[in-house]
Amino acid sequence: MSRKINKKVIEKDLKKEKDFRVRRSEKYSRLRGMKDILFDEYKYWNLVLKKATDLSATYSFSHIDTPILEKLDLFERSTGKETDIVSKEMYNFIDKSGDRVALRPEATPGLVRAYVEHGMFNLPQPVKMFWLGPLFRHEKPQSGRLRQFNQYDLEMFGDPSPVADAQLILVAYNFFSELQIDVQIQINSIGCKECRTEYGKKLLDYYKERGKRAKLCVDCKKRITKNPMRLLDCKEPSCQSVREDAPQIVDFLCDGCREHFIKVLEYLDELDIPYNLNPFLVRGLDYYNRTVFEIFTVGEEEADADKRQSALGGGGRYDELVELMGGRPTPACGFGIGLERVINKIKEKNIPIKEDKENFIFLAQLGDQGKRKAFALFEELRKAGFKIRQAFTKDSLKTQLEEADRAGAKYTLILGQKELLDGTIILRDMESGTQEVVDYKKIIFELNKRIEGNKN
Ligand code: AMP
Repeated sequence: MSRKINKKVIEKDLKKEKDFRVRRSEKYSRLRGMKDILFDEYKYWNLVLKKATDLSATYSFSHIDTPILEKLDLFERSTGKETDIVSKEMYNFIDKSGDRVALRPEATPGLVRAYVEHGMFNLPQPVKMFWLGPLFRHEKPQSGRLRQFNQYDLEMFGDPSPVADAQLILVAYNFFSELQIDVQIQINSIGCKECRTEYGKKLLDYYKERGKRAKLCVDCKKRITKNPMRLLDCKEPSCQSVREDAPQIVDFLCDGCREHFIKVLEYLDELDIPYNLNPFLVRGLDYYNRTVFEIFTVGEEEADADKRQSALGGGGRYDELVELMGGRPTPACGFGIGLERVINKIKEKNIPIKEDKENFIFLAQLGDQGKRKAFALFEELRKAGFKIRQAFTKDSLKTQLEEADRAGAKYTLILGQKELLDGTIILRDMESGTQEVVDYKKIIFELNKRIEGNKN
């Protein structure tokens, strides 16, 4: 009997052990809708991040960062509880202290919080913010739609004038055109609360007309009384066909909102920025007023029924939000550009990327003593401002030269036993393959002669 039991126990233990081994060798894959950015892709990221950083500095936007995790309530109050982003797509949970928190699904609420929390109304206005970072939305992953993606955002606080709206659109437009992506701006004004009260009633009457309501999707049927303007940007084809003859907000704008909108458009005309008036553009968030805009690649504005998926960026004015979030009344506007979509466009169009590897020097070494001396020389050259690379873990000269060639070095310095004894170093021109023996003490002088103006 006991022998039988023992056998069973042993078999069970063996199975456990086997399962454990299988589990241990199991490979992990990343979560759905999340991406790794691998080495080869970084050249694209460097390009777009540099463009965003340079342009933001030129137009006097200052770099700011905010935490990835914020209070859930921040988004519920600003973005809006009923929006898709908050009600369906947010990654939220209760943390170990019992606080309701969320991974930020958009940047603006955190930036408004920062403006209020740090008393930025005391700074000279407008306060112009430049922000880059990851956002999280639990959407259905597909091409151009991720669950973690990165945005380039600009926000401007404290300037009510149409110039502010126009300047944001100008920077966004320059960002794309300087990356050789042809874009068109879709633009609309959704007025202020007063314009929208009158317009909302008219829109409701329109959608309640016989036969129209029945054609709406389930979500729009629910939204119809709460927020009829949201019906205009629904992506369901049946809802899009119903909206065709709907009244348009531009016909209901109050004098102030109309004048503001016309001025924005005049600036865009003056700057030769191509735009298209889109009466159905409302943007799905609660906080927008007056100007709203989205950016599309030329020719793709209408191609994709699901507009939210093909837009490269979007933004608008949000004059009430700072006050709603506990600050003083402060007009504001901003935009967000999706960097993964921009990079996809650059790849799709095969836009050539110039990599910054001109005129760097590779330092190769031979033998123990050569290696030791090369370590020190590397630091000396780096501190003297040269762009310099090495492969100190390699011993063979052939391998090191191959690596120098692959990396695109302009010159390779070779330091071996013989050179150490003679007090020299070899300077090899990688393009022609010619080599010169140079006095070791004069190497910085010799390199300066050849690489002037191309140091770090
Ligand atoms: P939004 O904040 O929704 O107005 O989005 C602004 C821009 O961010 C869009 O035009 C896209 O370029 C990008 N974006 C938004 N959602 C996603 C997503 N799920 N995946 C990738 N990019 C996105």
